[in-house]
Amino acid sequence: MATLKERDELVIWHPFTQQKNRLPVIPIVRGKGSWLYTDEGTGLLDAISSWWVTLHGHAHPYIAEQLYQQALQLEQVIFAGFTHEPAVALAEQLLPLLPNAAKRVFYSDNGSTSTEVAIKMALQYWWNLTPADATNERNIILAFNNSYHGDTFGAMSVSDRSVFTLAFHEKLFDVLFIDTPTNDNIAATLDLIAEKGHQIAAFIYEPLVQGAGGLKMYPASLLNQLLYALQQQQIICIADEVMTGFGRTGQLFASQHLTYQPDIICLSKGLTGGTMALGITACNQRIYDAFVNDDTYKTFFHGHSFTANPLACTAALASLHLLLQPECLQQIAWITEQNQLFAQQIDSLDGIKQVRTLGTILAFEIDKGKDEYLNNIGTRITQLGLTQQVYLRPLGNTVYIMPPYCCTPTEMQRIYQCLQTIIDYSAKGIL
Ligand SMILES: *Cc1c(COP(=O)(O)O)cnc(C)c1O
Repeated sequence: MATLKERDELVIWHPFTQQKNRLPVIPIVRGKGSWLYTDEGTGLLDAISSWWVTLHGHAHPYIAEQLYQQALQLEQVIFAGFTHEPAVALAEQLLPLLPNAAKRVFYSDNGSTSTEVAIKMALQYWWNLTPADATNERNIILAFNNSYHGDTFGAMSVSDRSVFTLAFHEKLFDVLFIDTPTNDNIAATLDLIAEKGHQIAAFIYEPLVQGAGGLKMYPASLLNQLLYALQQQQIICIADEVMTGFGRTGQLFASQHLTYQPDIICLSKGLTGGTMALGITACNQRIYDAFVNDDTYKTFFHGHSFTANPLACTAALASLHLLLQPECLQQIAWITEQNQLFAQQIDSLDGIKQVRTLGTILAFEIDKGKDEYLNNIGTRITQLGLTQQVYLRPLGNTVYIMPPYCCTPTEMQRIYQCLQTIIDYSAKGIL
């Protein structure tokens, strides 16, 4: 009998993976809490929440039970012309929690579709507002260098031109890219906005932490200045909270660290507690109103087969219920505190640089080789982590953790211990 590994090698094409000479994949047969278990029974502590999605731990019994009950009741229904309890209840419960007074939820399937929807909403907003005999002047989209908003074409277009997008550059639409704000560049960026603002339709940003770009963090005070200037010119602001949403940055949403709020918020990843795929694009009244019209051409012609899938919405409701329990909010605050303590402890150590933390996220760079995604030191760090039963997946030389909120003190200790070993190895030059 062929093993699962061998069968996989014959039929599967894995994401973000060079198939040639790839490392053997690890068969996972079950999960519980912060742990994943291999077919050999080895436990792996999931320190990155399985690509930033798992909030309450794997195979959570409450989410599983809710899903089971919903699956017996209604598993799927077309969402044009029909509605159902899980979709409405989720929107009702989520909207008041969003910091931007969002009034409407548009469902889709994942993070990339949630940003695609936001970009299309923003562009069509200006198109809808332009009288038939006039030309629409607002057609520039503004985005950050080093950003990541997903893998579909619109999402790629507003993402950094990087190794991820290299093969498609000539097919991506033009975007005006600016650096994330620093004290040195903020004045020049504000000048640019003053000059070009009347042509800018929308600005899309990952608030405070750029995820796939290497967990790069930038200050709320400077983002506030930017958002203020953009909103003075009515530019639609789109916060891509696909990664930062649902407590990762210490607040329920990263935008809560900010004074100025976006018109649109994109959510996915932790939305269902990491149980299944679901995306949300939540917009305020201003955006929504531009689509409510006697003119059929002003309809938002967008939707996916599985829009608002009842099972996905049910998982999201169950996850939200768990997230809002005092114990979970205390856990987020506790991990935040532990991260701050650990960051202080390692801040001036040799072998690493740029130690940073926000909420439950902690990251640093290994001071070796180039600061880039293709730096293959990350693979060696993953291997080293596995020997300590901790699963890490650095982005190039950026090592980070983003643990599930159910991590116990012993589990967090194990993760920090593993990071300490990596730092020691790096300092000794033996990574
Ligand atoms: C992961 C991510 C996306 C894409 O989400 P998918 O579900 O992988 O399509 C978009 N934006 C941000 C900020 C992300 O971290």
